Amino acid sequence: MRDSIISIQDVSFNYEHKNVLDHVNFEIPYGSFMGLIGPNGGGKTTLIKLLLGELKPVTGTIKLFNTPITQFKDWNKIGFVSQKSNSFNKDFPATVFEVVSMGLTSKVGYFKFFNQKHKAKIRQAIDLVGMREYTYENIGNLSGGQQQRVFIARSLVSDPTLLILDEPTVGVDSENVQRFYELLHNLNKEQGITLLLVTHDTGTMTEYATDIACLNKTLHFHGKPGEYENLSDREISEVYGHPVSLITHDHN
Ligand code: ADP
Repeated sequence: MRDSIISIQDVSFNYEHKNVLDHVNFEIPYGSFMGLIGPNGGGKTTLIKLLLGELKPVTGTIKLFNTPITQFKDWNKIGFVSQKSNSFNKDFPATVFEVVSMGLTSKVGYFKFFNQKHKAKIRQAIDLVGMREYTYENIGNLSGGQQQRVFIARSLVSDPTLLILDEPTVGVDSENVQRFYELLHNLNKEQGITLLLVTHDTGTMTEYATDIACLNKTLHFHGKPGEYENLSDREISEVYGHPVSLITHDHN
């Protein structure tokens, strides 16, 4: 049994009177690369907001790093990259270096100067996401996929143990989606970062994820990519509430 970095026990959530999550139980083991999938409106973003402490469950408990979320303080252990990160326009006046340095402001404070150690950390994060040659490029001049790499670097400077990504590949072209997954795979395998990825790229994701969970108000599936691939079309359609055709890839 692997230890859990996130533990969700019997969690329900309502917006006004509408029940969106219904007695969800969910564990994310340390070191895993968890792909969270499900139909639109299935409650994925709501679950992420609960994990980030932005919403509070109606019932049930959430533990982060074995600590009840109500007492959890080590938020710098958790990095978050949202699909909305991908929104700098051409005129946004910041270089890649400056955007990544923003990930350190909680440690350094606004308007303080970065010392050599901080600068090395920023460069290391930029290297890790393969963006060294763009270090002094204006963020607005980069493609959507390159910008998402920069946002990952921004969350890496504070050395997170867990990285949560909410549909980070929306708006990224298919060739760069593959490269993006390779980056996530390396962060998971080589840096030991646990990943929780919300995505619609079921095909590409099953190549890289170590675990898959499928959420539609309740958790319909939680297991290995191979087991997910063995679900019948009918079982998958039941989860999605309508017929779906899923393309999955071999898991190396
Ligand atoms: P997903 O991320 O899987 O698409 P969401 O968590 O965004 O699902 O949404 C789950 C359900 O909650 C949807 O029916 C959505 O319309 C509803 N919902 C989401 N946010 C709000 C909100 N702020 N107020 C009311 N209903 C909401």
